[in-house]
Amino acid sequence: MVSNTPIPLIGSNAHTHTTFCDGHDSARTMLDAAINKGFFALGFSSHSYLDQEDWTMTRQGTLDYIARIRQLKEDENGRIRVYLGTELDAMSDVDLTPYDYLVASVHNIYADPAALSAPCGKPVLSNGKVRIAYDESPGSLSYIVTNLYHGDWLSLSRDYYLAVRDHIEKTTRAFTKGPVILGHFNLITKFNYTLGLIDESDPAYQKIASQVLLDCAEMGAIPEINTGGMWPGRNKEPYLNQWMLRLLKSHGYPVIIDSDCHRAGDIDHGFCEAVDAARQAGYTSVMALGKDNILEEIGL
Ligand SMILES: [Zn+2]
Ligand SMILES: [Zn+2]
Repeated sequence: MVSNTPIPLIGSNAHTHTTFCDGHDSARTMLDAAINKGFFALGFSSHSYLDQEDWTMTRQGTLDYIARIRQLKEDENGRIRVYLGTELDAMSDVDLTPYDYLVASVHNIYADPAALSAPCGKPVLSNGKVRIAYDESPGSLSYIVTNLYHGDWLSLSRDYYLAVRDHIEKTTRAFTKGPVILGHFNLITKFNYTLGLIDESDPAYQKIASQVLLDCAEMGAIPEINTGGMWPGRNKEPYLNQWMLRLLKSHGYPVIIDSDCHRAGDIDHGFCEAVDAARQAGYTSVMALGKDNILEEIGL
């Protein structure tokens, strides 16, 4: 439930997809939507290249994307601040030097085709493995739990969160020129509204998630309150549950609010609920990509 206290204009989003990856609108259309909403900054974060996937940028598309966002930066100089980022998948091996900031995310798991109890329908990659997404559909997640983990959702959760920590460790070491945002931390709960596969109240689950979350924040990554999974009939909370937000707040770590939008109309989707969640956890400010500095604090 959203409180009656006026919601401040967040005016910035660092997690924005475009037609260069799996977004539905062009970078220009996304930027126009941000300008029309009174945004002061917009960061683009198209999915980094992976082979054999249609939801990431291609190799050539990555170069076109970088050129396009740089052009938009020049075009919009003064009106709105534009930042060039990418949502860096843990399995991507790409040049990070062009980017102002990164959103570091884990979406997939590698599996040995011989270890699967039923075929997954994914192509075998050059490393001999198949890549299966946690967040593609309820079917893909339940396939992983059933056929790779034989129902052991806790082991899956452990492996997922350790992969997140590993990705953040590597990324914060490799990229120091700008912020690293921890993307949709608890993505494996995306389909809990319908599958209920993961018991988020289990102390063993909360222990591993808490440890990894604090480790990632300690390494300097900024966890995002990501509203991308919040839709009627789906998850009521953003990524970063209330208890995760309270944990971060109690240790003094900042958070950033992101919509993870794939359509121009969703550029600030769920921001009111995100502000409310941050306030409930005790936050009086959040970080955002800024107009003058790449990171600025916004009072709530
Ligand atoms: Zn993502
Ligand atoms: Zn995303």
